[in-house]
Amino acid sequence: MFNRSRQVACTHCHGVNYWKGDPAPTDELACRYCNSFITTYDDYILNFVRVEAARMLAQFMETDCEHDLAMLKHALSQQLPPRPKRVTRPYLSASR
Ligand SMILES: [Zn+2]
Repeated sequence: MFNRSRQVACTHCHGVNYWKGDPAPTDELACRYCNSFITTYDDYILNFVRVEAARMLAQFMETDCEHDLAMLKHALSQQLPPRPKRVTRPYLSASR
């Protein structure tokens, strides 16, 4: 049902690579053929969940698939950790 081999194709040379062991979220997968950076484990899992969820939804939805997929994608996008906000204060004039 799931892609348990954790297979990832290199985006540069299309060589087949695999995640091994229990990678940390920040671990990076480098291509074993051309040594290019492919993805981090976090990004891989996120993309994996999106693809699998869309695929499973598509199996059970007969109509209005696009709308539900759009809602699912939106829901998944809300799960991303919030980026730190940079607060920029307006410059306060020192005159007076
Ligand atoms: Zn490669």
